[in-house]
Amino acid sequence: MTVLVLGGTAEARELAVLLQDAGVRFVSSLAGRVARPRLPVGAVQIGGFGGVSGLRSYLMEMRISAVVDATHPFAEGMSANAVAACHTDGVPLLRLERPGWSEAPGADRWHWVDDHDEAAGLTATLGDRPFLTVGRQSLGRFVDALAGKPALVRVVDQPDFTLPEPWTLQLSRGPYELEGERELMADVDVLVTKDSGGSHTWAKMQVANERGIEVVIVRRSAVPAEVELVGDPAAAAAWVTSRR
Ligand code: NAP
Repeated sequence: MTVLVLGGTAEARELAVLLQDAGVRFVSSLAGRVARPRLPVGAVQIGGFGGVSGLRSYLMEMRISAVVDATHPFAEGMSANAVAACHTDGVPLLRLERPGWSEAPGADRWHWVDDHDEAAGLTATLGDRPFLTVGRQSLGRFVDALAGKPALVRVVDQPDFTLPEPWTLQLSRGPYELEGERELMADVDVLVTKDSGGSHTWAKMQVANERGIEVVIVRRSAVPAEVELVGDPAAAAAWVTSRR
């Protein structure tokens, strides 16, 4: 029995430790997007599979008996491919997804939107000094609406386009502490984020709540009803070991 863990998150790395401790044979996969990825314990394969058909071939060739999709809540392409491939070939699939922030303190005063384009338009009307924490791949969607504003942009790796002149770039990777976020957000009047959930990037939300800073937050897509869902690595490890 070999389990495939679709990774790229802290939860996937925690699951890898639990599976290794339990003596489960598994391989973790990473997209290979960031320059210096944090690697999980155990076997790792880096790079995409080649869409649904590539993933189906991989599942067959590697004799994968179960898949845990522990990708980021906004890695929607990979999750959709996992559903399609596993459904077609009858491979058991579990979604491990950290709970979102919809019930978190302050959530009822934030501006919840469905996508990044809506976030960009709304942000332009809410403030003059936005703090964009939406990830490198979504950043381009904010250029038209916010090119004239002195936005603070925080991403892990250098964006692949030239940022508008008034934008300030900060390259860093969480987790982030409260004091640092308080200092960084001293002049910010609107925070833009997605509903990543978890504690690693929560401090900025707390600072926004403390100061009454506007928050624009992109909703997650719902997990398909037919996919079993757990919220923490221990539950995912229990699902795997119960199948042995
Ligand atoms: P995505 O848009 O859902 O995926 C695009 C393609 O990248 C997939 O079709 C797949 O290529 C490949 N891919 C994605 N995740 C993979 C994985 N774990 N293993 C192997 N291939 C993978 O994904 P994304 O939003 O670019 O995210 C990429 C990775 O970064 C994910 O692993 C995710 O967990 C992590 N991450 C994402 C975010 C975010 O905000 N999106 C934040 C933190 C971490 P093929 O079609 O060729 O198989």
